Amino acid sequence: MQNKTIKIHPINNLRNAVTPSHKMEEECGVFAMYDTKQIDNVAYAAYCGLFALQHRGQESAGITIANFGHLETIKGMGLVNEVFNVDELAHKMGNAAIGHVRYSTTGSSNLVNAQPLFAQSVMGAIALAHNGNLVNANQLRHELEMDGAIFQTSSDSEVILNLLAKRAKLGLEKAISDTCTTIRGAFALVMMIGNKLIAVRDPLGIRPLCLGKIRGTETHVLASESCALDIVGADLVRDIEPGELLIIDETGFKSFKYAPTNERASCSFEYIYFSRPDSILDGLDVYHVRESAGRYLAHQKPVEADVVVGVPDSGIVAAIGYSEESGIQYSMGLVRSKYMGRSFILPSQSLREQAVKLKLNPMRKVIAGKRVILVDDSLVRGTTAKKLIKLLREAGATEVHFRLASPMVKSECYFGVDISSKEELIASRMSVDEICREIGADSLDFLSISNQRKILGGEQFCEGCFTATYPIKDIENHQEDKC
Ligand code: SF4
Repeated sequence: MQNKTIKIHPINNLRNAVTPSHKMEEECGVFAMYDTKQIDNVAYAAYCGLFALQHRGQESAGITIANFGHLETIKGMGLVNEVFNVDELAHKMGNAAIGHVRYSTTGSSNLVNAQPLFAQSVMGAIALAHNGNLVNANQLRHELEMDGAIFQTSSDSEVILNLLAKRAKLGLEKAISDTCTTIRGAFALVMMIGNKLIAVRDPLGIRPLCLGKIRGTETHVLASESCALDIVGADLVRDIEPGELLIIDETGFKSFKYAPTNERASCSFEYIYFSRPDSILDGLDVYHVRESAGRYLAHQKPVEADVVVGVPDSGIVAAIGYSEESGIQYSMGLVRSKYMGRSFILPSQSLREQAVKLKLNPMRKVIAGKRVILVDDSLVRGTTAKKLIKLLREAGATEVHFRLASPMVKSECYFGVDISSKEELIASRMSVDEICREIGADSLDFLSISNQRKILGGEQFCEGCFTATYPIKDIENHQEDKC
């Protein structure tokens, strides 16, 4: 077995020099495809799948192409269309591929942490792509190091790789299930081991993973979100269940629960912000959830107004729902520059204020002289909201009523999402009235937890960042580099 890593793009220093966004940041997206015969489009399909998952990670991207056990990895820093040469991919033959897009914090953003990760084992060559974050990675890493393991990355995903390699003599199924009961936290994994494609979801199903099949073929696809199935012409078959281990090879499918449990705790923020509105996760339509949040908001704290405006892009669907329920006209009151990436570190307050204008520009003809209901998905630090409300007033808004399609974000995430520290979260320090004054709104309201539960259909969701009650206890404070 052989692995070839091609470094295509150096680190994009500008993109790397980011300041933490005003939003929470997703950590990763995974994609995989398997066919029993060699096909000519497997690498290009992985490229397309990662393209559809680009919103889940913009720091690095990678694809491992498998040709009946021979694995070749191409990865680099940057966006999917920067890392890969499409012409080159289109000429690669193989029967399977796995892919990964990664978001990471600035300090850990380097090529060595880009995925898929690779290792040789007695089970065959292993390529692994991981979405999520382990909460016991430090302890496991220490134990492995004391046992002689050598790590090349600072990523918790390499802990999984080492555990798998160490258990390889137990046989494939036992090695994976033992590893998955040893690690704790959030993990949606796709792996190539020899010529087998493996999918695993953590026992609570915190991070999403779904299975699809390309119409009229025997080609199976796995992806973090169903929007990545659409782009390669695959139908959504089902979600991988919490605690499920799925093995696909030339003999067919094998699936079993390595962690029998009836509990689940899917991340509620996937529906609020991270996932694309054209995705369906665990049977719930993301668009419908966001639209319903807007409808509930319209009833929670009604206000007289002239126009409803959504903050592009993630506040728009909730704003449409608010407008439909309240009967107040929806208008595009903010225009977003399509070509603006993430926020950069800017040295002065005036430059930072200008940066918000680069990203979002108010439509004076929609706003001037109007009482505006501004809808966004969530409020993290409050700094961007404050600037946006100021921009709307400068554009002539007579009143600005701010509505959030999620509950107050009060606490950190330990399961693979980069939220600010608790001290930086405005809702952990201030009451609703205090936040309202701080950001300069005329009124403010957040979706209540009880209404969010009604929309999602129950309490079997992680709400840790809203309630500080997490579905997993005994979380290590310090986190490895997440993925
Ligand atoms: S803490 Fe929040 S962001 Fe993290 S998994 Fe739970 S709901 Fe999702």
